[in-house]
This record gives sequence, structure tokens and C-alpha cells, in this order.
Amino acid sequence: MTAKTLDGKAVSTRMRKGMREEVAQLAQAHGRAPGLAVILVGENPASQVYVRNKKKACSDASIVSFSHELDESTSQQHLLGLIAELNANPLVDGILVQLPLPEHIDPETVIEAIDPGKDVDGFHPYNIGRLAARIPALRPCTPFGCMKLLEETGVDLYGMEAVVVGASNIVGRPMGLELLLAGCTVTTVHRFSRNLEAHVRRADIVVAAAGKPGLVRGEWIKPGAIVLDVGITRGEDGKLVGDIEFEEAAKNAGWITPVPGGVGPMTITMLLYNTMAAFRTHMGEVS
Ligand code: NAD
Repeated sequence: MTAKTLDGKAVSTRMRKGMREEVAQLAQAHGRAPGLAVILVGENPASQVYVRNKKKACSDASIVSFSHELDESTSQQHLLGLIAELNANPLVDGILVQLPLPEHIDPETVIEAIDPGKDVDGFHPYNIGRLAARIPALRPCTPFGCMKLLEETGVDLYGMEAVVVGASNIVGRPMGLELLLAGCTVTTVHRFSRNLEAHVRRADIVVAAAGKPGLVRGEWIKPGAIVLDVGITRGEDGKLVGDIEFEEAAKNAGWITPVPGGVGPMTITMLLYNTMAAFRTHMGEVS
């Protein structure tokens, strides 16, 4: 078997085109376009690239972005003050604080300071709780993007065995909640789990998000399985690689995402989607 490619770049391009048209309609109806505030603290080069890409994606979709680039030495109090201002600003529908933050700033305190209705990353405990309680509001972008890719396969997900490799707050855990919501039987595997191979071998859906290149061996993939690789690591040769041995996995899988060009573009697309959803709610539209 040779897997079909789940082309996140193509899905993103299609979705963003639709969003551009929707933003134009929303702006006409409400007299302003949705606004996203992006906060970057410090000069982490990877974060700078992510923030630049997010701002460009906003501009392409005609979403207004407000950029706040703060010095590495910015105090937590100052950052919380800025978040309070943005929470109160009626032109700001979404607030994104780029992670990781410098060590002297506590990310949980910062995330909890964001108005849940503006938490377009979907990391606030309120939004995670809504997802857990099966009444999702703003949903974490990477897992949400993975669900959109699963939708693209047209496969009925009810009752499928799904294995998520990785249990972080931003990817693995909410991914498990999304798959549960979609009717899958979910196993979450993490650094303390035993026998990764056995879990992966029985999975109809594998989502790898450990940040460990080649952790999931291609030969473990069940014939026909849907394989989503969230992992992104830059190799010594400068190329981006995922957590799954792509070539071998593609021989067994029914569907597989490439790295790059799979899950990555979907994350930003879902950020735009969430910003529009937050805007609609602020404007009193039912989303
Ligand atoms: P993280 O380091 O916070 O979490 C990694 C998780 O993997 C942990 O729960 C850990 O227990 C688990 N893990 C580590 N070693 C393992 C092993 N041997 N077996 C099983 N589980 C193991 O990382 P994160 O922020 O969740 O990101 C994970 C990866 O996804 C990274 O490569 C990151 O760059 C990538 N990522 C991609 C996107 C995207 O848009 N495509 C978005 C976010 C993160």
C-alpha cells in the first residue's frame, strides 16, 4: 500500500481563500475587520519566524494585526498590564502570546490573564475545560488543524483506535480530547509510557507530537492507518523533520501528512479561524 498525502498546505490555501472572502463580508457588515494582537517577548529566533508568519497570514486574510515586541527583560507585571489593556480594547478580538516565554515569566499565569473570549490559541483553562466538557469554544489550533485534516480523508472516525504520542498542554492533551469528542477510543502515550510500539501497532489513527525525530518507526504503522505528524525538528542539515519515519510509514499508511507542509500550515489557518470566531462572538453574531 502507498499512502495518500494529507496535504496541509493545499487545505490551508483553500481555507484561507474562503476566510479572506468572509473577512471582507464581516468588515462590511460590522464596519471593521477582526483584530489579532500578537505579543512576542525576547528574541528567540524560531519564535520570531512564527510571529512573522502569523502576522503575514493575518495580512493576507485582511485581519488586522497589532504587534507588541517586548524586550527579553520585560517583567511579568508589565506583560500582565499589556494583556489587561488588550483585554479591554474593543478593536482586539484575539490575543496571542508567543511561547516559550523567558524563564522569569510564568506561562500559566500569563495564559490565565487572557480574556477566554480572546484566547485564540485556545490554551486558557476555560477553553480546555470547554473542550473536555464537549462544549468546545476556542479550540487549540494545532489539534483543531489535525481534526480538519482528518475530516479531509472522509473517513468515519467513530470507534477508531487513536494513539496520540505526546501529552503536552498545547498539542498532545487537547489532541486526545478532540479525538474523544470525535468518537475515537483514545490512548495518550508520553515519556513515561511503556511499549510505544505496541500502542502504535494497533492504532487506526496515529498523531505524533513528541518532538523526537524518527521516534515512530514506519514498520509499526498498521496497514491503512491515518498518520499525522505534528513533530517539527530542524536536523543538522537544516531540513525540517517529523517524529515519524516518513518513507517506511507511507508504505503502510492509508493517509499521511508530510513534514513540512502537513500539520504546520493548518496551525496558523486555525488561528485565523479562531480570530474570526472570536470577532463574531464579540459582534453578537452566533458562531
Ligand atoms: P513538549 O516537549 O511540550 O511535549 C512533548 C511530549 O512528548 C511530552 O508529553 C513527552 O512526555 C512526550 N514524549 C517525549 N519523549 C517521548 C517518547 N520517547 N515516547 C513518547 N512520548 C514522548 O512538545 P510540544 O510543544 O507538544 O511539541 C511537540 C512537537 O510538535 C515539537 O516537535 C514541536 O516543534 C511540534 N509542534 C508543531 C506544531 C505545528 O504547528 N506543526 C505546533 C506545536 C508543536
